[in-house]
Amino acid sequence: MIEIDGSQGEGGGQILRSSLTLAMVTGQAVRLTRIRAGRKKPGLMRAHLTAVTAASEICNAQIYGTAIGSRELTFQPGEVSSGDYSFRIGTAGSTSLILQTVLPALLCADGPSTLRIEGGTHNPMAPPFEFLQRTYLPLVNQLGPQVAAQLVRPGFFPVGKGQIEVTVSPSPTLEPLNLTKRGELVERRAQALLALLNENIGRRECRTLTSELDWPEDVAEVTVVKNSAGPGNALICDLQFENLTEVLVEFDEPGKRAERVASQLARQVKRYLDSDAPVGQHLADQLLLPLAIGAAQSTGGGVFRTLNLTDHSKTHIEVIQRFLAVDVSVTETAPDDVLIEVRSR
Ligand code: AMP
Repeated sequence: MIEIDGSQGEGGGQILRSSLTLAMVTGQAVRLTRIRAGRKKPGLMRAHLTAVTAASEICNAQIYGTAIGSRELTFQPGEVSSGDYSFRIGTAGSTSLILQTVLPALLCADGPSTLRIEGGTHNPMAPPFEFLQRTYLPLVNQLGPQVAAQLVRPGFFPVGKGQIEVTVSPSPTLEPLNLTKRGELVERRAQALLALLNENIGRRECRTLTSELDWPEDVAEVTVVKNSAGPGNALICDLQFENLTEVLVEFDEPGKRAERVASQLARQVKRYLDSDAPVGQHLADQLLLPLAIGAAQSTGGGVFRTLNLTDHSKTHIEVIQRFLAVDVSVTETAPDDVLIEVRSR
């Protein structure tokens, strides 16, 4: 049984989710203690519980410690089964994070799968749907499996009630990924997503964003979402390069002015464009797991260049190495330019 201290390093939900993923993929049982000790409300929240139950349904696991607020959990995986799955978080918790917990196990499963997940699709502190669809999944698809995601209905914090649908065509093993160059910029565009809010908010965000980035005004547009159960606003920027698309986002919150949302996004965009490392900080975190799984199969792994590595990613590397015999080397070649290599040991 692998013992994971959930308070290590950055102490967030990723330690739990990645431990579940790695237990599913390797068949090794895991015991987690001090779950999310580094967070304001420690222990299992509703969305984490959904991750646990989703993982256990897919690999027929035995679990102990599944109550809201629980700080300890034992997860004994069985065999992974492909199939048709539906999961409901019941709050605005992130559907992307549930998907990312179970997807790696389905990438090399015995047959195709479909997943319907209900909850939040546009949450602060989690990959928004557009990032999943346009940044993360195209790279996962380069590893061999083919995964497609569709936004059925957006769900914003706090109401949620969004839905995503995902189809997975597996491949027996994962191929390597080499992502050290962005290639040329092909397109840049921004979208102010608005649900049940005054369109003027979106227009102000677009105006401020294009003016701070010195971009033509027609690069940004307002998209009014008709089928959301609750109000919400996200300002999303796509930077499409030859070798990947980076999706950056900022969210409106009560009391936050539209101009501030746009300025914060402009800062993220400038920082990304000032570096020429292709992989942004969030993507670095999320690529580690599929690359490490491929490396452990001795077919995949790979190398990528990213902006400086967050504590979140450093903790993630430690958790991965508890389950898989892989080496992850981190070489800082310049500020905001770090080379990560993931190889089998
Ligand atoms: P945790 O805070 O431990 O629950 O993990 C949150 C996960 O969401 C990490 O993998 C982050 O990289 C990811 N994440 C947070 N914000 C974004 C964002 N704006 N775009 C993409 N991924 C994100």
